[in-house]
Amino acid sequence: MNKHQTPMLDQLESGEWPSFITGIKRLRDHHADPRIRETTNDLLGQLEHSYETIKGYWKGGTVSVFGYGGGIIPRFSEVGELFPRSKEFHTLRVQPPAGNYYTTDCLRQLAESWEKWGSGLVTFHGQTGNIMFIGATTENTQQFFDEINDYGFDLGGAGPCVRTAQSCVGSARCEQSCTNEHDIHRRLVNNFLDEMHRPALPYKFKFKVSGCPNDCMNAIERADFAVIGTWRDEMQVDQQAVAEYVAVKGRNYLVDNVISRCPTHALSLNEDDSLKVDNRNCVRCMHCLNVMPKALSPGSDRGVSILIGGKRTLKIGDRFGTVIVPFMKLEREEDYERLVELAEEVIDFFAENALEHERIGEMIERIGLVNFLDALNIDMDPNMIVHPRENSYVRTDNWEQEAAKWIERKNSAA
Ligand code: SF4
Repeated sequence: MNKHQTPMLDQLESGEWPSFITGIKRLRDHHADPRIRETTNDLLGQLEHSYETIKGYWKGGTVSVFGYGGGIIPRFSEVGELFPRSKEFHTLRVQPPAGNYYTTDCLRQLAESWEKWGSGLVTFHGQTGNIMFIGATTENTQQFFDEINDYGFDLGGAGPCVRTAQSCVGSARCEQSCTNEHDIHRRLVNNFLDEMHRPALPYKFKFKVSGCPNDCMNAIERADFAVIGTWRDEMQVDQQAVAEYVAVKGRNYLVDNVISRCPTHALSLNEDDSLKVDNRNCVRCMHCLNVMPKALSPGSDRGVSILIGGKRTLKIGDRFGTVIVPFMKLEREEDYERLVELAEEVIDFFAENALEHERIGEMIERIGLVNFLDALNIDMDPNMIVHPRENSYVRTDNWEQEAAKWIERKNSAA
């Protein structure tokens, strides 16, 4: 095998960060299978060629597996005659398990299947939340899918469809979790599998589930339908643990690093160094709970908030999700059914009313939140603020007198 010279790519290995070039070279130089060595050699050759000519040479097309309309990102090379071994280099998006829990056996099994049918390049996990298996020929795409499907893996979403959902690590490993993230994730995905595998929506639609307001899935920023665990009673305070914290770190440290950093000034220290929480003003920013996890925990009346419309740039700039349901209990079967029903209603409305290539956040911006809520039969609520901590309450005492004065002024000016 003649190795392609890659002087420009070599520079990418010189920085402080691990380089993807080093990873591809490792496959080229050390993999036991000559097919993988040759494929990655041609991949590096094409990439170097791209850097030299400042031009990308991958084009799309149509590649799918039987019965599916999405889940594969086709990549055909425009310079396939120069780099024949990587001329078809499709990516398969495969759904991860809820919470990204794998056994090492399972990871090994996936790696072996991919080395058998693909290039050996994998990303755990791409921005979409999927396992990205990068680099298969059209023929091997079906073979690889059949093999992993046999042991339980399925393709994720690509294109204008319900996309692969994501959930955080959750209550199995995190003390802040307020809900069963993985159950929610699984129910939503199972219910919308058809919409995921057969793209038929105006544009993409993403579910993300975070177990607490730390929002480790960045659901508020990145999900069209964000489910975020929260609580509605009082935060649980273990005063003994607070006292131990003060004894170790000192009173000043607590004041400087916890109390004064509460964005709503909801914390104070009593004379005896016990902590006082003004729960009505706590906005669940999670700062104090993260700093003092032994002393502070979420309350015991737990549930989720649902936010709609988070997304990155596109037409009208970045948007955070807007609260649609401030608090929903998720304990009984009926609660979960209601959640899935709500998601169905939202997606139906999106499918019927969004313009092509418009995310649901943009659609709401265009038609107005009031109309969206009206269509979904959801009552308005002061928690549905667009920006956090902008007060949606307006005092209306004496408004009549003020209005009379304003009319008087207007009349006298006229
Ligand atoms: Fe303040 Fe945030 Fe703690 Fe609530 S969670 S008390 S807002 S620091």
